[in-house]
Amino acid sequence: MSENPDYSFFENVIKSFDKAAKFTKWDPGILEQIKACNAVYRMRFPVKLDNGGIKVIEAYRVQHSQHKTPCKGGIRFAAEVNQDEVMALAALMTYKCAIVNVPFGGGKGGIKINPKEFSAYELEKITRRYTAELVRKNFIGPGTDVPAPDYGTGEREMAWIVDTYSSLRPGDIDAAGCVTGKPVTQGGVRGRREATGLGVFYGVREVCDIPDVMNKLELPLGIVGKKVVIQGLGNVGYHSAKFFQDAGAKIIGLAEYEGAIWKEEGLDVDAVFNHRKDTGSILNFPGANNFEHNSEALEMDCDILIPAALENVINVENASRIKAKLIGEAANGPITPDADEILIKKGVIVIPDMYLNAGGVTVSYFEWLKNLSHVRYGRMEKRFTENLNAHILGQIEELTSKKVNERERNFILHGPEEVDLVHSGLEETMITATHEVMAVWRANPQIPDMRTAAYVVAINKVANSYAELGIFP
Ligand code: NAD
Repeated sequence: MSENPDYSFFENVIKSFDKAAKFTKWDPGILEQIKACNAVYRMRFPVKLDNGGIKVIEAYRVQHSQHKTPCKGGIRFAAEVNQDEVMALAALMTYKCAIVNVPFGGGKGGIKINPKEFSAYELEKITRRYTAELVRKNFIGPGTDVPAPDYGTGEREMAWIVDTYSSLRPGDIDAAGCVTGKPVTQGGVRGRREATGLGVFYGVREVCDIPDVMNKLELPLGIVGKKVVIQGLGNVGYHSAKFFQDAGAKIIGLAEYEGAIWKEEGLDVDAVFNHRKDTGSILNFPGANNFEHNSEALEMDCDILIPAALENVINVENASRIKAKLIGEAANGPITPDADEILIKKGVIVIPDMYLNAGGVTVSYFEWLKNLSHVRYGRMEKRFTENLNAHILGQIEELTSKKVNERERNFILHGPEEVDLVHSGLEETMITATHEVMAVWRANPQIPDMRTAAYVVAINKVANSYAELGIFP
């Protein structure tokens, strides 16, 4: 969301892609096809405002790749939305889905509005009209293109989308699968809300458990005691912060739009969140210190930095002042390619956005599968598992003449609920993806950084999939 006319987010994605493509064996024509956005739908439509006036709304939906269908990617509501940005985000979705083995092509949507300037009724009209425009051009549907939340949107907007789609496609038994990130009452899945933040935590935790990486950074193994700074206390940032804190990390700095705070002994994330809710600002949190500028938090001396707000926040201007040893890109595109080069030279390890923040799309995939199968996760096996576990435990207790304590009994007997299955599916996905990326990085010492290794994994998977389709014999 940069105002800088010289900054092209899509060009930056292409730069990172080209850097990685050198480490693959694919024909340049295949690489061209993978890079290109297959379809860009730019629309304008009028909306009547509460004051009687009419506003013409500019909006986009980009389908970057159909090597797997449907396309998948969030919808962003922001004043700075533009075609370049939506194209870049759609491309990142293609690579992200490939890395985490989610069988979707990349897509992304955007509406160029500041949602804070519109009433809920106006936002509903805008969202419903946007959905109707997508239906008209076949740019939405459980088998074609499935949006989700992104910056500025959430469950409420997804509920409007599924309702509009269903009313325009009566009798479509799979209509609930036209969008993900819905409220649970509207076909959503438990665990979606915290999914991206939890995925960020799982991904970073996995890297912190790899001995050679931690040796290189001169850090001890594990999350416990690590000093963490987080930028953005929205959906992704808040949940990431919570999971790091719960695992024993120290959140020493938090940055928001209006300012940033720090406390060497660690901040309590929920207390800061509530303080912001009550006072309207993160600043002046009891016991913490204010920074003069919120960007100073990014430059704190810490072990792990998690930018979880917007793109382009670490750039050539501030990269050399970054002191974090490990950066987990929770936001999309927070580090520019030029800044990346500076960080690589400094020995900083960056866990790239394109797989680290894939928790949202991974759990969206689970939600879509739930919608197509029309059954809640856990419904078929929960009771069976509990009965079986009770029987096994009973047998063991009888044979050993010993009883487990009440806490252990509850843990052993517990059959999986939907949220348990979703969290464990996400954990498995993030662990597998981390090791796939690390294996490619280790196998080729010429690959300079983890982002390039992640792109290599993505390019190979997408190109292979085209090759398997017989498109590129
Ligand atoms: P959000 O709107 O819930 O939160 C973003 C937060 O960042 C807000 O609290 C905002 O005030 C804050 N912010 C804005 N500018 C800031 C600045 N200059 N300094 C500090 N804080 C600032 O959005 P989100 O859904 O959490 O998305 C954040 C990022 O994560 C985006 O890049 C998005 O594309 C990416 N992402 C989100 C998801 C998801 O599931 N929501 C999935 C993958 C990637």
